[in-house]
Amino acid sequence: MSTSFKSAIERLKGSIRDVPDFPKPGIVFKDITPILSDGQLFRLAVTIFSERYQRKSVERIVAIDARGFIFGGALAHYLGVGLSIVRKKGKLPYTSHQTEYELEYGKGTLELHIDGVEKNQRVVIIDDLLATGGTAEAAAKLVEKCGGEIVELAFLVELNFLKGRERLEKYPVFSAISY
Ligand code: AMP
Repeated sequence: MSTSFKSAIERLKGSIRDVPDFPKPGIVFKDITPILSDGQLFRLAVTIFSERYQRKSVERIVAIDARGFIFGGALAHYLGVGLSIVRKKGKLPYTSHQTEYELEYGKGTLELHIDGVEKNQRVVIIDDLLATGGTAEAAAKLVEKCGGEIVELAFLVELNFLKGRERLEKYPVFSAISY
């Protein structure tokens, strides 16, 4: 890893804000909005993704509701490829595939339009943060229902202690920053 890449990562890491007890007692929320509100840092974060994927023949970015949309949109723009969005149940207007996933209490459902990904299309799935991996796993299943090929799952932040990477062992996983 080059020194400048390392210091870029440290700058990003240093600007992520810990918000204790949000949205529930006991959870430390990793707030990435200070990265978004600083033009240089936001560009740095997007550059990490764009440099990683620019020569990997990626054909579609699939971004996860809601902060994944921010990085996914910027990355799709840079690569000049299409963007599809995975949303919580009931938000997408057209016929959709559905996948259930476990939440802390009960279950949730994620959806992707049936034409969100074409058969055999090379896809990068992106979100801001990997925690237990349940959300990303559900998104990966949706891409597979469309017949897409998953190049990698990409995250700005990974919480190692929650072992999301183990849950996603079937897939290549990349994260820029880890705790
Ligand atoms: P998981 O399915 O457990 O991997 O949770 C990942 C999703 O929940 C992502 O969309 C994150 O934005 C959000 N998330 C989970 N835990 C946190 C956290 N501690 N800080 C910020 N976002 C989180």
